[in-house]
Amino acid sequence: MARKVRFVDVYVLLVASAGAVVVVWAGGRTDLRDAASSRGFWLFALLLLLGEVFPIAIPRKGGEIEYLTASTTFAIAMLMAYGPAAAILVQVSASIIADLVQRKSAWKVAFNVGQYALSLGVAGVVYQAAGGTAAVHASSLPAFLAAGAVFFIANVILTDIVLGVTSGGSLADFIGHDLLFQAQTTLPLLALAPVVIAIMDESLWLVPLVVAPEVAVWWGTHLALENARLAEELGGSLEQMTELARAKDDFVAVVSHELRTPLTSIQGYVKTMLQLEEDLPPDQRKTFLEAADRQSDRLRRLIEQLLVVARLESDVEPIALSLVSIPRLASDVVDELRPQARGHVFDLRSPAGLPSLLTDEAKVHQILSNLVENALKYAPADTRISVHAEPAVRGVVVSVADEGPGIPEDAQERIFERFFQVDQSATRRVGGTGLGLYICTKMAAALGARLWLARSAEGGSEFSLFLPERPPGSEGPAEAVSR
Ligand code: ADP
Repeated sequence: MARKVRFVDVYVLLVASAGAVVVVWAGGRTDLRDAASSRGFWLFALLLLLGEVFPIAIPRKGGEIEYLTASTTFAIAMLMAYGPAAAILVQVSASIIADLVQRKSAWKVAFNVGQYALSLGVAGVVYQAAGGTAAVHASSLPAFLAAGAVFFIANVILTDIVLGVTSGGSLADFIGHDLLFQAQTTLPLLALAPVVIAIMDESLWLVPLVVAPEVAVWWGTHLALENARLAEELGGSLEQMTELARAKDDFVAVVSHELRTPLTSIQGYVKTMLQLEEDLPPDQRKTFLEAADRQSDRLRRLIEQLLVVARLESDVEPIALSLVSIPRLASDVVDELRPQARGHVFDLRSPAGLPSLLTDEAKVHQILSNLVENALKYAPADTRISVHAEPAVRGVVVSVADEGPGIPEDAQERIFERFFQVDQSATRRVGGTGLGLYICTKMAAALGARLWLARSAEGGSEFSLFLPERPPGSEGPAEAVSR
């Protein structure tokens, strides 16, 4: 498909070609040999090159960083002292070297050549037309001001056309907005050009001193930007820590509520038994003890769950691999949880010949237990809970489906988050911490497995767990090479 020709591409090509013509013209000038025989020429060329290679990074409003090249001081000084051809050739060579060092694209290199050649070219014409001379006198000030202004305007406008057109806004607005910033930063550098020439008249050795303030600015902005970056990083981690502290506060609130509930009821049974002592009929005493036992069990499980989360989050949980038959494991889980059923009917199904998987049995057991427990917790009594295992590509999918109330659509994404519960009220009908599904996803990830909510509506929910044949990374060399 032919690419649409954009205005900017044509423009860049035009500037680059016009610049190339000016460079060829400058190369053919005879006065270049005179200039090159002067030591000042080479000193200016060196300082100009340093200015190009080490641009001053200046932060702008909105966090953007603008690069200012201090080479302009010496480009204009060269133009005044040695003529436009020398200034153009040196500036263009330095720009190419700096762009290559900074790995800029060929287009950017060519455009910069064009931009410098054209702006210095017109500035040279203006300087000579206005009667500017190689030596600096008060009388050459108007010529310098005119040449400096033309160089500045041409340079800014040539670049702003590309930036403005590609920025998406109005070109005039862009130039208006950029011009003031460029004037504030570039004009002081241009003003140094006649100063540099005047100093050179005194002694060549004094010229590098002019660079000292520029180095100070370069170093200052470098430090300022580094500080800004550090402050931003610090702000980011502070935000993260605040978020973490908030999650911990939520955690403490939920956990203390969940821990207090069984503890209060255990204490209630024990206190009643202590108060009534002999007055309590034996069968009543047995009922109380059984209830206290159930609540202790709940408390123990909650504490265990919290310990699992702590281990999983600190990544110290080991993985113990063995060959596991998923239908057998699913049936064990259902058998263990049958006592918790309130008339629920279990529908266990799996095709014959389902391959065994190399996985961590205890973790898969815990995931399936959590899913079946949730089904028992949230689905009404006497409804059906299905646990189906099916073959999948390089693994097995186990699904746990219930006929419960389902999960509201806006909460479906969040149920796997730590501590998330659809019903967060203190009076919620069923106990829980919002840790179950979070633990399941963490464990699944450790096994290279995946857990997702396959379907959830008014009539029930279905969770699916894909378990791979073997955890990724556990292949022997032969399996790793073969397809
Ligand atoms: P909890 O300990 O609260 O059960 P989970 O992490 O296991 O925590 O589940 C998170 C939330 O997802 C639960 O609070 C519940 O609102 C919802 N949920 C999980 N499983 C089911 C299900 N089978 N039916 C309806 N809602 C469910």
